[in-house]
Amino acid sequence: MAQAKTYAGGCQCGRVRYEVATDPQQAIACNCSNCAKHGLWLTFATPDQFKLLAGEDALVDYQFNRHVIHHLFCPTCGVESFARGKTPDGGDMIAVNVRCLDGVDIATLAPKPFDGRSL
Ligand SMILES: [Zn+2]
Repeated sequence: MAQAKTYAGGCQCGRVRYEVATDPQQAIACNCSNCAKHGLWLTFATPDQFKLLAGEDALVDYQFNRHVIHHLFCPTCGVESFARGKTPDGGDMIAVNVRCLDGVDIATLAPKPFDGRSL
């Protein structure tokens, strides 16, 4: 994560806003049923690298499959700008939708395929 820097991000309408330290070049493109349909490209951060600035009270929590990940989307614009989940060893982690980071040109990213569908 040598390239990690702090980005501001959030949903489309601005109700959900956050700051996160991450490296968009490390993004993965997951093929699970949720990520594939949303077109999610994700990077991961620890809770101390992520600060939710606005929208905690508004977030809608969607869970499916094993109910390990809280997919959090804005009820106004419908964008899932981040999710809360667990690392394999049980720690808290944040999955950030790199498409929602301000100033990131997603055309410059080449996310690694991730086979979430098979998990
Ligand atoms: Zn919104």
